[in-house]
Amino acid sequence: MLVHFWGTRGSLPSSLNAEKVRQKIIKALKAAQGKTFENDSVLEEFVDRELPFAVRGTYGGNSSCVEIRGGNEYILCDAGTGLRDFGQSVTNTRGVYNIFLSHLHWDHLQGFPFFTPAYIPGNRIKIYGIHSGMEQALIAQQSPPFFPVPFQAMRAEITFHPMEHDVVYEIAGFKVRGMIQQHPGDSYGYRFEKDGQSVVYSTDSEHKKDAENPAYAYLDFIRETDLLIFDAQYTLLDAIGDKENWGHSNNILAVELAVEGMVKRLCLFHHEHTNDDDAFDELLEDTHTYLRILSETNTINITMAYDGLEIKI
Ligand SMILES: [Zn+2]
Ligand SMILES: [Zn+2]
Repeated sequence: MLVHFWGTRGSLPSSLNAEKVRQKIIKALKAAQGKTFENDSVLEEFVDRELPFAVRGTYGGNSSCVEIRGGNEYILCDAGTGLRDFGQSVTNTRGVYNIFLSHLHWDHLQGFPFFTPAYIPGNRIKIYGIHSGMEQALIAQQSPPFFPVPFQAMRAEITFHPMEHDVVYEIAGFKVRGMIQQHPGDSYGYRFEKDGQSVVYSTDSEHKKDAENPAYAYLDFIRETDLLIFDAQYTLLDAIGDKENWGHSNNILAVELAVEGMVKRLCLFHHEHTNDDDAFDELLEDTHTYLRILSETNTINITMAYDGLEIKI
């Protein structure tokens, strides 16, 4: 199984501006002062090993879209703006695209009008989800005055497949189960299993007091998964302060649930749109520190998702 992150930002896409790029260049040049690089590979090694990710790269530009490879068809979680980049990468191939929607908030749908494979006859696009109204939501976002190209102009065969939560489905070679999550208007997490391996995609989900209960149903949902993709939009302070009941979780609870659920790898996802790359590096560092405080022996691999990240399971 391979998981490719096409969009990792929460709430709305968020791009770098010229000043942010300039600051990165200044930091990189300062770090390179006095060094000489005999060839390109030495230079690349310096960039990859010695520059922090916030200097050499960037977290989360596109809104949510994650591809899970390893089945016999394309599998995507959510149709945020990352779906546009995914679509550009596959325009020369005909295929079956299975898209699982966590919920119908705009940041999880807004890539669909720009999904090139949906305009190509011969492609089959299957939209899965647990919310009623999936079809109406996609038609509405491509209706006047919001968008000039109607949904009906898409020439691929597009079908809708309502699911029920807590029921295991066989789809494209995976066993897939949805679970209801706390979020305004509800959201659903999905657990994908194949050949004894699993990935849990769990975004836009707030966990309340009942998360402290050892019988919390979510712990069964994530139990021993190889990869938990988790909504860590907020810091703990944000989550219990102004932003309580906004429907998102935080990095501290991510660690606690991952440890309790015996998760093997944790990936922080749905990044806060007002944060810059330095703030994300700091959030990741704080998350590692908290894991060390919580458990000296636990060695969960913790990653900060970014557009283009690939995780092999
Ligand atoms: Zn969202
Ligand atoms: Zn949402």
